[in-house]
Amino acid sequence: MSDARGETPTIVVATGNAHKVVEIAAALGAAADSPLAGIGFDAVHELYPDFIDPVEDGATFEDNAAIKAHAAHYVSGLPSLADDSGLVVDALDGAPGIYSARYCGVEHDDAGNNEKLLRELEGVPAQRRRARFVSCLVVVGLNTIIDRPGYGYLTVTGTCEGSIGFEPQGNNGFGYDPLFLPDATPGRSMAQLTLEEKTAISHRGDALRKLLAVLHS
Ligand code: IMP
Repeated sequence: MSDARGETPTIVVATGNAHKVVEIAAALGAAADSPLAGIGFDAVHELYPDFIDPVEDGATFEDNAAIKAHAAHYVSGLPSLADDSGLVVDALDGAPGIYSARYCGVEHDDAGNNEKLLRELEGVPAQRRRARFVSCLVVVGLNTIIDRPGYGYLTVTGTCEGSIGFEPQGNNGFGYDPLFLPDATPGRSMAQLTLEEKTAISHRGDALRKLLAVLHS
C-alpha cells in the first residue's frame, strides 16, 4: 500500500515499550487480509528522539490513551495509536486502575506494586478477589490515510476477567501477572502462561482483536 506521494504509510505508536510496537504491528498489520496490511508501525521515540511523553493526567484509561495518541499525532501529523492499561480490583473500588504502574509510589516497580496489592487485600477471601485487566486503544488521524467516516478518532477497550491470588506464581510476563489468575486458565496465573497463551486471552489481545473487527466492518 502507498499513499498519494507513493510512500508507505506509517502509523506512529505512542509507547516507550518496544515489545508493544512488535505486538501491535503483528496483530494489526501481519495478516494479508488486514485492513492495515502494508502499513508500517513505528515507535514515536524512534521517529522523534526528542519526543517528550505527555503528562497522563486523564481520569480514565481512554483519556490517557487519547492524550498519548494526540501528542504523537501533533508532532508527526501521521495517524497515531496509543494504549493505556491496568488492573481493576473490585474489592478495592477499582484500584489500582489508571495508577497501576505507580501503585506503590514508584513508577514500574512491579515487586513493590504486587506487595502493596497483597497488603491491601489481606483478609479478603477468594470469592471477593474479583479483578480484571483493562486495555484501551485509541487511534487518532487514521482518516489521513484511509478516508472513512469516524476514522479521525477510533477507540476500543479489551478486558481479561480473573481474580487475585494469595501469593505470586510464575516468572513470565510482567507487572501483576504473578498475582492474576485468569478465569480462562484455571489453576495457572498469567505469569505461568506462554506469550502465545497470554495473547490469546489477554486484555491487550482482546482490544487488538476488537480494533481489527472495527476496521473490517
Ligand atoms: P501501561 O499501560 O503499559 O503503562 O501499563 C500500566 C501498568 O498496568 C503496568 O505497569 C502494569 O503494572 C499493569 N499492566 C498492564 N498490562 C499488564 C499485563 O498484561 N500484565 C500485568 N500487568 C499489566
